[in-house]
Parts: sequence; C-alpha cells; structure tokens
Amino acid sequence: MSSRVLVINAGSSSLKYSLIDGISGEAAASGLVERIGEPSGQQVHRGPQGEVRTSLEIATHEDALRAVLNAFSSHGPSFDGVVAIGHRVVHGGSRFGDPVLIDDEMVAAVTELVPLAPLHNPANLEGIRVARRLFPQLPQVAVFDTAFHQTLPPEAYTYAVALDWRDDHGVRRYGFHGTSHAFVSAEAARLLGRSSGEVNLIVLHLGNGCSATAVRGGVSVDTSMGMTPLEGLVMGTRSGDLDPAIHAYLVRELGWSLEDVDHALNHSSGLKGLAGQNDFRELDARRAAGDPHAQLAFDIYCYRIKKYVGAYYATLGTVDAIVFTAGVGQNSAPVRSASLTGLERLGINLDADRNLAGALTISTDDSPVAVLVIPTNEEWQIARETLALLHENKPCLLGVAEGG
Ligand code: AMP
Repeated sequence: MSSRVLVINAGSSSLKYSLIDGISGEAAASGLVERIGEPSGQQVHRGPQGEVRTSLEIATHEDALRAVLNAFSSHGPSFDGVVAIGHRVVHGGSRFGDPVLIDDEMVAAVTELVPLAPLHNPANLEGIRVARRLFPQLPQVAVFDTAFHQTLPPEAYTYAVALDWRDDHGVRRYGFHGTSHAFVSAEAARLLGRSSGEVNLIVLHLGNGCSATAVRGGVSVDTSMGMTPLEGLVMGTRSGDLDPAIHAYLVRELGWSLEDVDHALNHSSGLKGLAGQNDFRELDARRAAGDPHAQLAFDIYCYRIKKYVGAYYATLGTVDAIVFTAGVGQNSAPVRSASLTGLERLGINLDADRNLAGALTISTDDSPVAVLVIPTNEEWQIARETLALLHENKPCLLGVAEGG
C-alpha cells in the first residue's frame, strides 16, 4: 500500500506543497506558488526533471492548486498512489491537540478560531476548501502548529489576567512551530539512542520565526510563543517579548492606531527593526564587516536565546540535550556559540571545531548536556501524522483513497 501524502501549506498569497512518503520521508516533488492574486505569479516545481520555474497569473488559491496539478502532469512525478492530503493549520486553539480528519464540522470549528489567527487560519482554510473541491475522493487531515503545545501545564500557559479574559476570550499561551518541535524532539531522542519518553530537551527553532520549547519526556511543557506567534525570541521581523504597555504608550504619544502598532511589531521589528534587514546571512556579513547596528542586533538575538535556555533549564531541572534547528539554527555557528557561551557551569560545553563544521553533535564528548543540530522537516512530520491518523482511526479510508 502506498504511503504517499500531498502536504499543503496555504498562506495568504502563497501555496507550498510537497509530495512525500510518510514512512521514508522521501519527497518525490515539492514546490511553491507565490503571489496569488497578483498579475505576476510565480511557480517553482521540483521533481524528477529538476527545478522548473514558471511565471503565470494566478488569481485564486484554486488556480494555484490547479497549477500544481498541471506541474505534476507536465513535469512529474505521477500523482498516482497519493493516499491523503495533509494540511498545515496554524491555530487549533484549545480544541485541537491532535491531527483531525477534515469534515464540515472541523472546518466550522477552525473558522471559529479565525480571530485568534486572522492572518493565517483564513488562508489555511482556503487551501482546505479548494483541496476538498479538487480531490473529493481523498481523505484530508489537518495538522495544527499549536497541537504539540497542548500539553503545557496551566502555570505555563496561563497569563496573569482576569478570569473572563481567559474563559470567555481564549486569552492564553498556545505556542506555535509545534510540528517542527515534535519532529526535532523525536529525532534528537533517536540520535541519543533513547526513547522520547526518556529525554529532556530544549529545542531552539531559529528561522524567520523563532521559538524555544522545553520538552520533558517527549512532551512540550513550556514554549516561548504565546497567544500569537509574536511573543518570545527576537525574530526576523517580530519583536518577541516586550513590555505590553509600549502598545498604549505609542497609541497615546504618537497617535498610532492599534493596527499600526500591531503591524509594526509583527512586520518591521525584530532584526529588521534593529538593523534594517531580516535575512540573517546578510546581517552576518554586515556584522563581519564591522557594522555596529548588525552587531547589536546579533547580540540582542543571542542574549534572548540564552535567557530562554536558562529559564527552560530551570523548568526542566535536568537537560539531556539542546537542539538547534531551522534556517539560522542549522546554519549559523556564531549564533549557536554566542547563545551558549558562558553556560559551562550548567554542563553545556560546545566543541568549537564541531560547531564550525556544522556537525550533528556540536558538544564535546564529555559534555553532560549534548548540543545537537538537527534539520527540521515539517512536511514529513505532517505526512507522518496524516498517515498515522488514517491507519489508527480510519483504516477503511486508506482503501477508499487507493481505489479513488
Ligand atoms: P527558515 O524560516 O527556517 O527558512 O529560516 C530563514 C532564515 O534562515 C533567514 O533569516 C536566513 O537568512 C537564515 N539562513 C539561511 N541560511 C543561512 C546560513 N547559511 N547562515 C545564516 N543564516 C541562514
């Protein structure tokens, strides 16, 4: 029986996809349709013929998905044998702690969550609607970014605010990047030669968005992103932690609207606000050339990571490994070094040569806490969870898909 899953990540103006084997993790094809709704759409399809780039006008998400299907039929691989579609959904609120089979009731429930993620959930839902229309015969599964963090204890997820904010308006920490944290945690346990239930980890997902998670025995017990993906570490364009009174100050003193402040904190803060750009490679090149703004941005970024490592060390009590992942975490030796230097008394000992070489294990052999660099693979995790759900709960669905 095939274990191929089409993974779809629909954004507001883009649609990413991957045709991936949920068991082996091998991607037969992947790609991206960008600038949906603009006259100059772009498609990149990576398959058996290598990378194929196309410019075309793509008015809607449905056009985007049709363009994906055209790419499969023109450039391969064959779409035969796909058993399910797995969708990334950003916000599952308190309701979704596991992947779910998509049906009308689930779509209605995710629609109710739109106020919690107004930028992301509507686009994810649009991807789901279109895929259900184009592939009515295939089972479809939603995998939530928040789900891995549904195990946070109340003291970690509750903000110190009034009961009605919490009970009536869903004001609490949800956490994000859960698919990545789940994948990397399982990989780290495998690398350490132990089961997930036996290891305590601090996982640092450092990409354009950044988050830290404390994982006890395979389960998330605290995470740096909050009710929205704005809280926590310094990110490409997001501020991370800041005094919430700054909002009121800017509104009062500058006459800004709440939307202006919200937009600025999400889109022109973080590294972009500090040094004018959010691409870490360019920032690092400027830092190497002696640019003081780039240096300060780097220092603040790493200092914030170090604070979270300390906090989560205290949360966990004992830590088996610290794990770096995502674009910056996997590639920036200077960030890894600056974030962990000075923590030797906590048993965290980096090996400078291994770190520079980008090895899988970058701690010294006798370091009590291992430091690992593990590439994340959210598409594989979504495919894996999609398959697992179908196998465990709805084995008959796989038969339907195979026949369909
Ligand atoms: P992601 O969101 O995981 O795709 O990560 C994107 C971020 O990773 C961007 O800020 C990139 O500049 C950064 N990045 C990618 N490659 C490197 C690299 N070789 N060195 C430093 N940063 C990198």
